[in-house]
Amino acid sequence: MSLAADHSRLARVVVTAPIDKPLDYAVPEDLQERLRIGSRVRVPLGRRQAVGFVVELPETSGQKLKPVAELLDSAPLFTARHAEFYRRAAAYYAYPVGEAFRTALPAGLSGKGQAPPVLSETLYRPTGQAPNLRGERQKQIFDFVCAAGEASLAELKALLPAPYQALQRLVALGALQVQEVERLRDPFAREAVLPHVNLALNTAQSAALQSLEHTLMTGAFATFLLHGVTGSGKTEVYLRAAAACLDRGRQVLVLVPEIALTPQLVGRFRSWFQERAVRLAVLHSGLSDGERFDAWRSIARGDVEVVIGARSAVFAPLPEPGLIIVDEEHDASYKQSEGFRYNARDLAQLRGQMEGATVLLGSATPALTSYQRSRAGQVHALDLPERIADRPLPAVELVDLSKTGLETLLSKPLQEAITETLAAGEQALLLLNRRGYAPFLLCHDCGATCRCPNCAITLTFSRTQNSLRCHYCDFRLPPPEVCAGCGGARMMPEGAGTERLEEELRSVFPEARIARMDRDTTTRKGAHARLLDRVATGDIDILTGTQMIAKGHDFPRVTLVGVLNADGALNLPDFRSAERVFSLLTQMAGRAGRGVLPGRVLIQTYDPENTTLQQVARHAYFEFAEVELDQRELLGYPPFGYLVNLVLAGNDLQRTGAAADLLAERLMAKNGSVEVLGPAPCLLAKLRGKNRFQILLKSTQRQPLRALLDHLPELRKQLAAGITLTIDVDPLDMV
Ligand code: ADP
Ligand code: ZN
Repeated sequence: MSLAADHSRLARVVVTAPIDKPLDYAVPEDLQERLRIGSRVRVPLGRRQAVGFVVELPETSGQKLKPVAELLDSAPLFTARHAEFYRRAAAYYAYPVGEAFRTALPAGLSGKGQAPPVLSETLYRPTGQAPNLRGERQKQIFDFVCAAGEASLAELKALLPAPYQALQRLVALGALQVQEVERLRDPFAREAVLPHVNLALNTAQSAALQSLEHTLMTGAFATFLLHGVTGSGKTEVYLRAAAACLDRGRQVLVLVPEIALTPQLVGRFRSWFQERAVRLAVLHSGLSDGERFDAWRSIARGDVEVVIGARSAVFAPLPEPGLIIVDEEHDASYKQSEGFRYNARDLAQLRGQMEGATVLLGSATPALTSYQRSRAGQVHALDLPERIADRPLPAVELVDLSKTGLETLLSKPLQEAITETLAAGEQALLLLNRRGYAPFLLCHDCGATCRCPNCAITLTFSRTQNSLRCHYCDFRLPPPEVCAGCGGARMMPEGAGTERLEEELRSVFPEARIARMDRDTTTRKGAHARLLDRVATGDIDILTGTQMIAKGHDFPRVTLVGVLNADGALNLPDFRSAERVFSLLTQMAGRAGRGVLPGRVLIQTYDPENTTLQQVARHAYFEFAEVELDQRELLGYPPFGYLVNLVLAGNDLQRTGAAADLLAERLMAKNGSVEVLGPAPCLLAKLRGKNRFQILLKSTQRQPLRALLDHLPELRKQLAAGITLTIDVDPLDMV
């Protein structure tokens, strides 16, 4: 699109600043030809300058505008359709549009600094002429380049030392031509790809695939919910649906909860598509800014056909995605928990709608919102009700802790089960969803605990690090010798975390090879992969850890799964606690008995009569969902109602409380049918030194809630100085 001078246009720019709308700028003469939608620019903003992105180039109506100061990259970063998607996402989550773009685009593009440099390399190709060559070196190089078709200077340097002079000579003789080309950083260049095994689909898999193929052929938007029990072979369906989409000339986007925790799925995609010479990009948090920038640009140019990534990959600029897969769609990590609080699963559907793409949500435990939509016929249900090869789901037992008497973390039945598993040379996974040694230190004289000075929470005790630590703000303290309250010397760890479990396992099973996987043991790059690899190769007998160990892993020799304590999570004051527990325990149980050996699951609890636990034990997803949905409907909770959580935070308790009261009053005055609940102190009433209050907006209709949200920018401006307002649309956690 060139901009003729007599048809002059203005640039509508989304600026990376907390502003709710794009701003208009004049396009200076020298940029008229070069500015595009998707161009990154520098623009004046008040007295400073800011980075922004051109989202529209409408004709000017002649008003006087400040000009765009500078065009920052040669190529645009996205198209008008991507821009529209990002803008609608920002609007939906009531987040400043420029900040939303900043989140969507690769890091390093929005700040004051430069974009990562575009790398280049020197390539040599044969010209087709074969002059008489003198000298062994020249011949050797020439033959190598001819055989390879082309070779880079780097490759030739690896072939023989200091080839430069000989190369220059070959170019001068007209035997080789030389060219500088862009070189993309490839984080996978050195990673081996496993050979792909071709499997014949079973009946359920084939039926699911057929429905998908049918819709992919039409090129119209549709959403599918693939509900497949653990080990039912969902990945195989993803792969073939992806291949069908590629056949139609459109690209595939695959979202996974966390790349580091899904190396097997990523590996299967890589081997399947590598075999078909399909270009694939994996976006993950371990990429450098440069790698990310390169991946983004090659995706935008249409050079990549399959993109796999976590949450933020939903924004990847695929020119024409035809299939968007959301694996483990129930997973809470699709929701960003700070800043731009989008849910990638939900945005995948918006994107699918805008692109006319097929959206495939997959899970063994679909989110109740997704299940309700399939029950209501808004999405197509695909079912894989059985495990591959008629393998049974594992037997689940609830171990009543009040009966077994628990001096240690491991009940007798669980200890015995571990002993048997080890004796058979099989593996066990043990879940304890809390890291550290103990959640707090308690003074056995006066009952005092050690609390975080910045957050309303006790400090977690870590024995390996010999420290007390806040898991929210990272405040650290050496464990005190005596109680600060009474001076007593009996400060003792209370409750249990993964460290304590690991210690106990080591003393009860001294011969076993034991490892722990939680956020503390996986801070180093590649640590997840190494641990999972060791389980896969049989190097570990018992893996203990937090919910990280429950995610999608497929280890055929794991026959025992133990859950140390199911009760804590069930009793959280959150209407979703049952859903979370059901899903975590079902996923966890699903790790057992995936190979030819049958699996067994033991769940320790003080409440074996608990309905949710019983449903887990019976693998009764549908029953669980029906009962839970009835309750939600009664109470008007999602998916039968819509929620927005507003959090006010400030240094001063009184002033923050007063601001919250005032905001609630003003919201009430603006509104008709939306329930304005609160304000009340947040569950975490103090976080990083700020006092926090929440106001929950609840409505059975989306429309009135949207209307009320539209007032928030104006109400935000009226807040007292120093008080911040966070808006969380469709909140998942209310902490
Ligand atoms: P899910 O994601 O549903 O838990 P996976 O896709 O990981 O299940 O599949 C479980 C196991 O079954 C994997 O090891 C996979 O290779 C195998 N598998 C999948 N489909 C088939 C099939 N049609 N025939 C044989 N094995 C299969
Ligand atoms: Zn803290």
